[in-house]
Amino acid sequence: MLTHNLGYPRIGADRELKTACERYWSNEIGLQELEETGKKLRKIHWEAQREAGLGLIPCNDFSFYDQTLDLSLTVGAVPPRFSRLSQAPLPELAFAMARGCQKEGVDVVAMEMTKWFDTNYHHLVPEFTRDQRFSLTPDKPLAELKEARGMGLPAKPVLIGPLSYLLLGKEKESGFHRIELLKRLLPVYRELLTELKRGGAEWVQLDEPFLALDLSPEIATAYRDAYAQLAAGGSLPKLLVATYFAGVGDNARLAAGLPVSALHIDLVRAPAQLEEVLPLIPHELSLSLGVVDGRNIWKNDFSRSLRLVQRAVEALGEERVMVAPSCSLLHVPYDCALERDAGMLPAEVIDWISFARQKLDEVVTIASLAVKGGAALEDPRVIANAQSLERRRHSPLIHRPDVKERVKGITPEKLRRSSPFATRRARQQEALALPSFPTTTIGSFPQTAEVRRLRSRLTSGKLSAEEYRAEIEREIERTVRFQEEVGLDVLVHGEYERNDMVQYFGEQLEGCGFTRGGWVQSFGSRCVRPPVIFGDVERRGPMTVSWTVFAQSLTERPVKGMLTGPVTILQWSFVRDDQPRSDTARQLALAIRDEAAELEQGGIRVIQIDEPAFREGVPLKLADRAAYFAWAADCFRLSTSGVDDATQIHTHMCYSEFNDIIDRIAALDADVITIEASRSQMELLEAFKEFSYPNDIGPGVWDIHSPRIPSCEEMFDLLERALECVPKERLWVNPDCGLKTRGWSETRAALANMVFAARALRERYFAPPAR
Ligand code: GLN
Ligand code: ZN
Repeated sequence: MLTHNLGYPRIGADRELKTACERYWSNEIGLQELEETGKKLRKIHWEAQREAGLGLIPCNDFSFYDQTLDLSLTVGAVPPRFSRLSQAPLPELAFAMARGCQKEGVDVVAMEMTKWFDTNYHHLVPEFTRDQRFSLTPDKPLAELKEARGMGLPAKPVLIGPLSYLLLGKEKESGFHRIELLKRLLPVYRELLTELKRGGAEWVQLDEPFLALDLSPEIATAYRDAYAQLAAGGSLPKLLVATYFAGVGDNARLAAGLPVSALHIDLVRAPAQLEEVLPLIPHELSLSLGVVDGRNIWKNDFSRSLRLVQRAVEALGEERVMVAPSCSLLHVPYDCALERDAGMLPAEVIDWISFARQKLDEVVTIASLAVKGGAALEDPRVIANAQSLERRRHSPLIHRPDVKERVKGITPEKLRRSSPFATRRARQQEALALPSFPTTTIGSFPQTAEVRRLRSRLTSGKLSAEEYRAEIEREIERTVRFQEEVGLDVLVHGEYERNDMVQYFGEQLEGCGFTRGGWVQSFGSRCVRPPVIFGDVERRGPMTVSWTVFAQSLTERPVKGMLTGPVTILQWSFVRDDQPRSDTARQLALAIRDEAAELEQGGIRVIQIDEPAFREGVPLKLADRAAYFAWAADCFRLSTSGVDDATQIHTHMCYSEFNDIIDRIAALDADVITIEASRSQMELLEAFKEFSYPNDIGPGVWDIHSPRIPSCEEMFDLLERALECVPKERLWVNPDCGLKTRGWSETRAALANMVFAARALRERYFAPPAR
């Protein structure tokens, strides 16, 4: 039985790639050193996979920034605004496309970035024009194949499949659908596949996650035609089409009928699809079973996986069954062995989890057990596995009866503010007296090296708790003064005490655990260390109050309290799989509700509850969405509805596709939403043409992922465009997202421009009363 892996994390167990990229961007190292780091990491990751004993090992799953971006370069879909950089080395061009570029007379904005399906990984959105041409630059996939084969590895290049690639992109002009570009794209894929075969690839994996989504009949037909065309003639490697994150559902027949050598299905998210797919598998097709969870960290249940694998073997025979993780392991951390000495997670919990390295072993173990038939259940590895799962089920670390009781007692009144928005708005205006087009930021200010050092000095005991507090308070004070000087209306404290918006809360909640090395890539060099929610969640005490209250004590202007919302905490954590996610979300919502109430008691009049992950929780299948929106909205409202009408609730969302869910966002009934919009040039506003958003809204006017400083005019123009769809009384002025990754000089310049833009707008749209 062939085992394989769909992709391995690439940032490095110690985030070496992050360090290298950031040093390269700040000119501390050159391209050669960057490339060497990449090479070293690939080698380490391949060695780990070889050591685990996998039958096929992925290559071209590495990237300096993002695999979708890399593919755009491979197939020559480089937006024309980057043509002046076309002679730059590949990583340089990729970075310019990902981050924008403002130097030596070049001034180009970055490509749009959005979440990879329902994960917290972000990819760059390919841009297509009507007369889009493609041309092959196979350097990267070929070089990585060569490298892997040079190590004697059974390397399987990984590419996003042609349909998914086009579907992930966006049309940059009207009058065509990107799927029409397929006929021009396919020859390039053919050429690439031929080259990979020539380079020694026996198998190539084509990721087609869209096959697990709802497809229109046109797209389904395009799938059939495209793969038929790929398969026709020419000597190609064996193709494995990978689906994941959901079941193939209505596309089962389509997926199983593609003229390829293997189909991969996700049996973690959709175990029931095995029975639907099996009867459809033709003789020449192998079936790859994703039985090890690539999206979560819980130890595999061997007896459950064995049931699935043995069922497939029964139907297809051993030679046509492959065993694999459910999806790329990009979405889980490296190695939980590193947690044993870290002393952060309870030892008991460490026994319940598997990271990427352990998951490779699980894949190989499951395959080796599956061939033993019924005898497998007596294997000591299966017995030990069952015992571990049993210990977890009964662990006192998991169950808190008082929390379960409180969740049961949630009444409908707890899910609503006391009065409708219009009433609240009047009360808030009275309390806050803000100008028109109020300016604010999203919460964080630059997390400079010094700020991060403060935290690490606290952790290592070099700084006492009091010294740490004093230092952070100094930063807060500086930031409050800065915001007053630059002329912002609703201030923030800057979030200096936070490592990460979810981690910070996770660390303070009962039922949540923390890892030392559990890093997962979010985008580019950015990584997060998701909390592990292993048990019932409860707030121990105030989590943010003293910092916010301190900031408020320094100024007359309102300081906005900053909390992370329940859906986002859930979405960005590794969540227990022994109860519905909605139950865990309700527990989180109660904890945030209590925190909001305490902020209010402390005199805070504006509270922002961030829900940037609201969109990524949306189930991929249309049929499952209504249920999600119902409980997710309940949880957000549960967390926000405990405050007085006069307290202004903000929320914030970013880097997702919002247009199709704008009515659901409105249902959250936040008084103000600040929402990322500038990277897509306010495309977001299209949604407001059909749906008039009922509350206040601040579409972001500064793309904070780019080192570019937007001019006052640029932001003014974006705001004027916003005014075409948003009444002038309800428009806020703010950046796209938090500023933690920016430097101070850019922050100063951009915020000053932003405040000027708001003032200019006030002058134009609310002329001062004549004297
Ligand atoms: N308040 C957070 C910040 O400013 C929000 C971050 C986010 O949306 N991802 O950093
Ligand atoms: Zn954001």
